[in-house]
Amino acid sequence: MNVEVSSLRIVPAEGADRDALAHLLVETVAGNGSVGFMHPLSLDDARAFWDACLQAAARGERFILCAWQGDRLVGTGSLALVTAPSQPHRAELTKVMTVRSLRGSGIGAQLVAGLERLARDHGRRLITLDASLVEGATGFYRRLGYHVAGDIPEYAYKPLGGLGATRVFWKLLDAREASTAVAVDPVADERFMRHALALAERAEKEDDEIPVGAVLVSPEGEVIGEGWNRNITDHDPSAHAEIVAMRQAGARLGNHRLVGCTLYVTLEPCAMCAMAMVHARVARVVYGASDPKTGACGSVFDLPADPRHNHRVAVQGGVLGEEAGRRLTNYFRAKRGKPPL
Ligand SMILES: [Zn+2]
Repeated sequence: MNVEVSSLRIVPAEGADRDALAHLLVETVAGNGSVGFMHPLSLDDARAFWDACLQAAARGERFILCAWQGDRLVGTGSLALVTAPSQPHRAELTKVMTVRSLRGSGIGAQLVAGLERLARDHGRRLITLDASLVEGATGFYRRLGYHVAGDIPEYAYKPLGGLGATRVFWKLLDAREASTAVAVDPVADERFMRHALALAERAEKEDDEIPVGAVLVSPEGEVIGEGWNRNITDHDPSAHAEIVAMRQAGARLGNHRLVGCTLYVTLEPCAMCAMAMVHARVARVVYGASDPKTGACGSVFDLPADPRHNHRVAVQGGVLGEEAGRRLTNYFRAKRGKPPL
């Protein structure tokens, strides 16, 4: 489901939009959306909230964007400029809401992109936000290039009751981020991930190793390294699929730097492999299944995104993730004598 871009209008909020904004806020809170309020939120309280916001916008302290489809308000998002003198470069993304029937249709992404443009235009290059953990926010913001700083338990009451955790996100809109940007081709991503999945199968069939496969692809789109887990076979604690593929590519290129290359791997890399990619100057990593136990590309650690490195590796997760995850689950089920899922 995609909203036609032509029918969607994203514009700054005006005073006359207050009532439409108030209705959207009341609806969001009634749907248990964590936007700072408890249910039931009265229309008058919602109006008072937006009156204050619109006044802040008039003073230039905040930007409010509205997404309109015809004369129907279908979404909104705000950007608050941080006023602390020590943070003249920071802004907070807040109150991003889409009408329930159109969630997942790309309106939220367009609102965030519009707010980022406003941030840039006003000299703000660090964006922070927090989002409740139960609403699929992580996937949404990660797709937009946001990094997870961490989770805070018992952060706020949900509108319908019960304390919920929040996840803190950040994104740097700086030039360094832009210069390392790599062209992304979803069709090629899927093709190389299929290749990596075939290698994962060989790990299991030929070596009875955990089925993880990796492919290293040159900037020209040529496969220059292949690997699968060989820890047990080679008595080598570092022989993860990614390391094996990078080692092969380095030998082939005669260079320990794999500049501009993309690594495809069926499982989210661990800390060792993530750091090896940073050392090798790999441009981008694409992984299949997330690893909630040891994943170092956002799940447990977020090493590629750490601003203290002088090289950033772009990260994309979830490509054929379900298939990659099922393969791993079935491997471990078979080890315990259970039938495959
Ligand atoms: Zn690893």
